[in-house]
Amino acid sequence: MNARPAVTLAALLAIAGCIHASRAMRPALSPNARALRFAKLVDGDGRVTQDATIIVDGDRIVSVGSGDGAVPSGVAVVDLHRYTAIPGMIDVHTHMTYWWDHAPGTKPFGPGGTRRTPSEVATVAMANARLTLETGVTTVRDLGASGYADILMRDRINRGEAVGPRMFVAGYGLSKSVPRPNAAPPASALPASGSPAWLRGRITALADIPLAVKTQADSGADVIKMYGSTGTGADTSTTQTFSYEEMKAAVDAAHALGKRIAIHSYGANGGRDAVRAGTNTLEHAVDLDDATLAQMARQGTFYVPTIDHNRYYADYRADYGYTDEQARGLDAYRARNLETARRAIKAGVKLAMGSDAVHMMFGQNTRELGFLVQAGMTPLDALRAATVNGAEVLGLADRIGRVAPGYFADIVAVDGDPATDINAVVSGVRWVMKGGAVVVDKRPAP
Ligand SMILES: [Zn+2]
Repeated sequence: MNARPAVTLAALLAIAGCIHASRAMRPALSPNARALRFAKLVDGDGRVTQDATIIVDGDRIVSVGSGDGAVPSGVAVVDLHRYTAIPGMIDVHTHMTYWWDHAPGTKPFGPGGTRRTPSEVATVAMANARLTLETGVTTVRDLGASGYADILMRDRINRGEAVGPRMFVAGYGLSKSVPRPNAAPPASALPASGSPAWLRGRITALADIPLAVKTQADSGADVIKMYGSTGTGADTSTTQTFSYEEMKAAVDAAHALGKRIAIHSYGANGGRDAVRAGTNTLEHAVDLDDATLAQMARQGTFYVPTIDHNRYYADYRADYGYTDEQARGLDAYRARNLETARRAIKAGVKLAMGSDAVHMMFGQNTRELGFLVQAGMTPLDALRAATVNGAEVLGLADRIGRVAPGYFADIVAVDGDPATDINAVVSGVRWVMKGGAVVVDKRPAP
């Protein structure tokens, strides 16, 4: 009986010792450390901190607290008290190198008015990168580019030679030629040997697939992309191009190299086979059957519906030269996409925010969030799709997607309350910090 108070006292002393030790062990802040003061913080996992104080040093977050008392003595304060802080967002489906010079007589998907080397593309496309930052997106997964212009962009940004979101890139996406829709036969087995077109992701034989995957990885790709069906631009056809066996060969080759894979499928059959083959993320797919949705929930396969990109193509049909009938086709596909997202959410599938941004869509990267809310997500769940879930898609859940100690200092100040109104995120971004550097500041002058 006498032992109990003694133990309690020992425990108290131990706790006191720990508190003392943790104070003593807090890493010394550099002279560049700053305290960001916000009205509140809405974190990627839904946690809310009122009167938030975020201590940033170098490119990382040191601590998150509340009130002026959380500001260490001598640390400069950045006054953002009119705004709500959210984590820098993650757009898991972009095509950053798709840039159009608007030369008269050209179309966005054409060659444009001037021929450009990959290095020149990487230079002009930095405009897309800057517009993306302005939406509060500080990290992207870029899913398909020519000439490794995506790798050039990523490396220039990482070296500090250009300002843009952190990029994780795919190089050439793997694709397979099929006759145009209507004439397309079902996905057929490939011949045993093909041609070196696989260097650029063009698959003509099953044996090409591991080579094509390895070529992208060796060239510096972070992630592998496969086009598993037709469908792009105004073409909303859903014909599966790669068979289950071919998708499986790509998934296995990617995973053997420690890479994740994203499979594009506009249709349900390609989506089902991509999920069965073990893709990490499924892009676009509509009309997924219940068994596939259940398998995605079970396996943790992410669905990236990219609903908004067909709104974009319909809105910009004049630039693309699409007919009114094609625009109606885009609208019809978008409705099926929204309905599939609704069913996926109900089935417990994890979703991530992907815009599929190309050309003039940069700067609209987060409009997808409005559709995720229409599909049944709460604003906080939509924010999670754009933060915590995007980080998980990239395998970076311990470094990005949250405002927490040790995470990259990717922090966005928005006007309004993202917990109740997703528009605060979509159109309320006023200030963006990426890796401790302020990259966007649109605050009105005081
Ligand atoms: Zn895409």
